[in-house]
Amino acid sequence: MKQLLPAALLLCACNLTAQNQLPPIVCGNSVLEYKMHEHFPEMETAFRETFDQAKAAQNPVADRTPYTVNVVFHVVWKFPEENLPDSVILNQLQVLNEDYNRLNADTGNLRAVFQPFAGSPNIQFNLAGIERVQTNADFTINLFDPGILPNLKSSASGGSDAWDPNQYLNIWICNIRPFTIGGVTLAQILGFAFPPVGLSNWPPDVAAPTPGEDGVALDYHVVGRNNPNPLDDPSGTGTLVVRGRTATHEVGHYLGLRHIWGDGGVFGPNACDQSDGIDDTPFANSQTEFNCDITRNTCPNIEPPYGANVPDMIENYMDYASEDCMNTFTAGQAMLMRSVLEGPRNGLLQPIVSTQEISPALTFGIYPNPATSSIVLRFEKSLDEPVQASLIDASGRMVKMWTNITGSPELSLVGVPTGLYAIHVVAQSGSAVKKLVVK
Ligand SMILES: [Zn+2]
Repeated sequence: MKQLLPAALLLCACNLTAQNQLPPIVCGNSVLEYKMHEHFPEMETAFRETFDQAKAAQNPVADRTPYTVNVVFHVVWKFPEENLPDSVILNQLQVLNEDYNRLNADTGNLRAVFQPFAGSPNIQFNLAGIERVQTNADFTINLFDPGILPNLKSSASGGSDAWDPNQYLNIWICNIRPFTIGGVTLAQILGFAFPPVGLSNWPPDVAAPTPGEDGVALDYHVVGRNNPNPLDDPSGTGTLVVRGRTATHEVGHYLGLRHIWGDGGVFGPNACDQSDGIDDTPFANSQTEFNCDITRNTCPNIEPPYGANVPDMIENYMDYASEDCMNTFTAGQAMLMRSVLEGPRNGLLQPIVSTQEISPALTFGIYPNPATSSIVLRFEKSLDEPVQASLIDASGRMVKMWTNITGSPELSLVGVPTGLYAIHVVAQSGSAVKKLVVK
């Protein structure tokens, strides 16, 4: 979870929780974990045990096969500025593909002491679709609801339903409104995600409350490097740097990573022995505060695995440094994410091409088929809703997308290589897939 707080409120809330001997919810970052701690005081012991198990289970992964994850963006908007254009969504996808393949231009900014520990997850993110939903709903975070923003992920509540969460990484984008009590803002979240079910380095029961809520949620200000909407600094001075790395951070949680400071402050006091369950990330006792302080060293007396006292790794995507200063996953983090894709999230690696009709309501034909330069989609019954159609090649990569289709317009195939494809159509009422041969 990536959370922003006005400095004054942070101070106030910390004082409040210290008096009550509660973990400082707004100084830590995982509200779900806070709630677990609140309701299950023995959780800290379980937390430490699962970390130990996770450490013991870590083995070097020799297989560096590139993995591909199909992604659906749900843009749920009320005001026009929230309806981010395709150019911003595609830029966000590019940022993910750079950061998860260590192709980001700023890898050279990683300090020398950390360079031997840098790793590439070798994960490619493929755009499977963009759903746009105009809504009258507001999306206000509720820290007392395990889903945090359940209405964002339900079309019946003004949100957008997930595509099959076993096959797709769903990323929802909306205006995330702050958590307030009595008119006082207690937390502003830039994004959040759930780890998969049953991961040993997380406490139990922190996965998505329902499969349809699994995925990543982002505030619309933090998407892409080319986002036209400035993000105000909560201190009231200027704006925060946005480089599309809130998504990098949240997808890290989705693939099983924890914050590098081990969420100290949530489970008991901040302390240098709160591990994130990864061997090659240096210890830290608290988060970086959205800056680039290379002198920061919150655990000067702990050396492993570096063999020397090292500063906090503000370059790590799983800290809270300014997005200009983060540029790295470690090899251990990359390994854990790949093992999650091989394990609890292996449905994401399955090809999505299918000839199965998912929704009879959307039964359609493709004419002509085989086709050369264009096609027409004809639906068995006329639809009173716009349809989005994607052209997906045999490797599961989306090569073309048509949005807001109404009636039976001619869809161009100019530039599409010959071969076997799937046409995946999506509407509010459902989705369906058909084979298409391009000659
Ligand atoms: Zn986080």
